Amino acid sequence: MKKKRSEKPFAKKSLGQNFLIDQNYISKIISELVPQPEETIIEIGPGRGALTKLLLESGAKIVAIELDQDLIPILQKEFEDCENFQLIEEDALKVDFTKIPNSQIRKKLVANLPYYISTAILQRLIEQREQFSEFILMLQKEVVDRITAKPGNRERGYLTVLVEAFCEADKLFDVPPTAFRPAPKVWSSVIRLRVKENSSIENENLFKDLISKGFAQKRKTILNNLKLLFPNAFEILQNCRIEPNRRAESLSLEEWQKIISHHK
Ligand code: SAM
Repeated sequence: MKKKRSEKPFAKKSLGQNFLIDQNYISKIISELVPQPEETIIEIGPGRGALTKLLLESGAKIVAIELDQDLIPILQKEFEDCENFQLIEEDALKVDFTKIPNSQIRKKLVANLPYYISTAILQRLIEQREQFSEFILMLQKEVVDRITAKPGNRERGYLTVLVEAFCEADKLFDVPPTAFRPAPKVWSSVIRLRVKENSSIENENLFKDLISKGFAQKRKTILNNLKLLFPNAFEILQNCRIEPNRRAESLSLEEWQKIISHHK
């Protein structure tokens, strides 16, 4: 009898499914995470279990969140003998991470993120950061370049300053399209984000609003962008000793914080 070629469903573009197939990169990601047997580690989008398999072998408790209903039975079958495996069938954007029981106060999270929602997931993780010690994330290379852009770099934007405020970001390595199946069109990069335990942001909502408005039109001056938020923007910038004709991308995190403390 002819053997069936594969029981696995086709990769779904709509769910950002580019599965890692290169064992070297799979091992490299896991070795950056250093999973310990007593830890709880969350994985977003286990897919066909490429990272999950190695994570489970470490003995850590793995809580995997997968949205694709077709992958659920495959993952359940693959890891049915693993007592340290828990699968949550949900949209990671809707998961309340505070509800996931854990063995330590702050959990680690790893994900080869579906690109179509990677920024939204990152923002959600930052909102719920008190649950986590660190995130090891595979993202599009250009997103990682944006996150790690220093003041003065044109790539610097809302996401850069948001991440910088709450995490220490370290780009780890690049990953070529050939490491995945199907191969994406662009390169990826893996980044470590260590959650700062004591971020010095005074008023988080105002801070987010400030950087959002500040970067609203990147080609405009900081003064023109900030007028959207503060009628007395010129005076605030003067008090902070920030030249009003600078662009948002040139400001450091400390300068954004200064604006917050001088805004009244
Ligand atoms: N971790 C696997 C790997 O490295 O081979 C799969 C990575 S693939 C880029 C992204 C995975 O995230 C897919 O399994 C996809 O079904 C899943 N996914 C997509 N959107 C999701 C969402 N909103 N919540 C949870 N998982 C999602």
